[in-house]
Amino acid sequence: MEKVLFLKGKFVEKIWGGDRLKNFGYDLPSNKVGEYWAISGMDDLESEIINGSFKGQNLKDIYKDHKELFGKEDKASFPLLIKLIDANDDLSIQVHPDDRLAQKYENSLGKTECWYMLNDEPSSIIYGLKVNDKNEAIKLIDEKRWDDLLREVNSQKDDFFYVPAGTVHAIKKGSLVLEIQQASDITYRLYDYDRKDDQGNLRDLHLEESKRSIKTELVENKPEKKEYETYIRTDLLSNQYFEVRKFEIKDKTSFKREKPYLLEAVTEGKGELILGEERYPIKKGDFFILTNLVDNFEIEGKVSLVESNSK
Ligand code: ZN
Repeated sequence: MEKVLFLKGKFVEKIWGGDRLKNFGYDLPSNKVGEYWAISGMDDLESEIINGSFKGQNLKDIYKDHKELFGKEDKASFPLLIKLIDANDDLSIQVHPDDRLAQKYENSLGKTECWYMLNDEPSSIIYGLKVNDKNEAIKLIDEKRWDDLLREVNSQKDDFFYVPAGTVHAIKKGSLVLEIQQASDITYRLYDYDRKDDQGNLRDLHLEESKRSIKTELVENKPEKKEYETYIRTDLLSNQYFEVRKFEIKDKTSFKREKPYLLEAVTEGKGELILGEERYPIKKGDFFILTNLVDNFEIEGKVSLVESNSK
């Protein structure tokens, strides 16, 4: 039985996509790649396991058929989705419903997400609103006073943004993002800069759904950093759905798996994952799951990982 599942995700081409994901060591299908669905159990975009006895099978099926690997977690489907996003242009302004609204109107889970920024060059994002009264926000939407409504903030490598369901948001040109989220795909488009497609059509908007889903308060989140002899640990986020933390390994470090299973994204450098007698090379762009069969593990090398777990 495999203790660790190395994954290969699927690329999604987008009009706003680019070619910077090649810097993660991938062979891209084109220079319009917007997303890499790295750890996914979602229909049609499932990640494939590329090592060991499950090689060639997908995460959706393995999660369903081998609950022992996931600590017998009691969820209908793989609960998280981890993507890399390369924005070569501005993405539309959007909002996701929370669980209650998504259940009521879409028979789905809501979508809370977070972004760990990877772009070396400064960029910006739309993150929340300039007003904190919902009626005022709706008035500004109706009057299309976007500059008065939308809050734009700078973003660059190592910044972290928590985007709970209901937060109006947009990834803007230049951003390179590691996104960790609830496995849901319900997105309402609020504004698309009045851009037209090749046929001269505006993209569909979901104004009523957006207005219904918007929350105006910005949720506080303060990452906490702790330095140890061989590594730095930054706790980035803990909410009701998932936890996210970052490890910057400087030298060989031992860890104990303290959650039912761990999702790992290698964001920088290279090294080795050591499980007892077994050694696995790891490098920037690799994604893997440390299953419930792992007790202790070691990481060696100069390598950074963003780790998450479901709750
Ligand atoms: Zn989103």
